[in-house]
Amino acid sequence: MYLFPIPAFADNYFWLLHDGKRALVVDPGAAEPVLRALQQQALQLESILVTHHHADHTGGVDALREATGARVYGPATEQIPKPFTPLHEGDVVRALDLDFQVLDVPGHTAGHIAFYTPDLNGEPLLFCGDTLFSGGCGRLFEGTPAQMLASLDKLAALPGATRVCCAHEYTLDNLRFALAVEPDNAALAAYLLDCRRLREQGQPTVPSSIAQELAINPFLRTRQASIRAATRRFDASATSETRIFAAIRQWKNQFK
Ligand code: ZN
Ligand code: FE
Repeated sequence: MYLFPIPAFADNYFWLLHDGKRALVVDPGAAEPVLRALQQQALQLESILVTHHHADHTGGVDALREATGARVYGPATEQIPKPFTPLHEGDVVRALDLDFQVLDVPGHTAGHIAFYTPDLNGEPLLFCGDTLFSGGCGRLFEGTPAQMLASLDKLAALPGATRVCCAHEYTLDNLRFALAVEPDNAALAAYLLDCRRLREQGQPTVPSSIAQELAINPFLRTRQASIRAATRRFDASATSETRIFAAIRQWKNQFK
């Protein structure tokens, strides 16, 4: 199996997975770059997986379905270009002879889902859309801080080796904020250097891994004493886990 991100717009990635003949794509916000990749490698698009309803994740769905006959899968409770197979937590999508487990991860949008498969080339793989980014998490457009924290906890509980395929290249910006929150995190400083080098070479910083994110991502580390102390300096009233999470999300929104 081959996995790579198709870069699109300013900072989106449409993940393409294929076996040399058949392909699936995740969150195609536009059709042209996907059609070009399919054509270049003589691939047949079999499945389109959608994590949430935003246009930068769905804009290419109709044209791709029409051009290739691919089957579309998406969250049951969101407006996805029809027809599509509606999914809930616990459903399994069979595509390219792999089973993708559906996880409900509300927060960025109310019906956001993620796709997890336990063994792709020997390692687990996660497509998480705009829920978890490397070094960050999605903005809370439709969900509450408690929902997003529970969704991130669910992803954080996946095996450490899980490759995290998120939908945007936001890593360097996220790490700048992460370092402001946790200036003494050595793993974070080392990761920032690696990611800078990758971007200088024009390479994506993703996929990351759950283990990597647990070491560096402030939104997965809200129970660490260092993060709690730093966040209370931003908002002294933040005490409960949910309030700490809400405060750090707010801090990131205002961070320049
Ligand atoms: Zn989004
Ligand atoms: Fe997005």
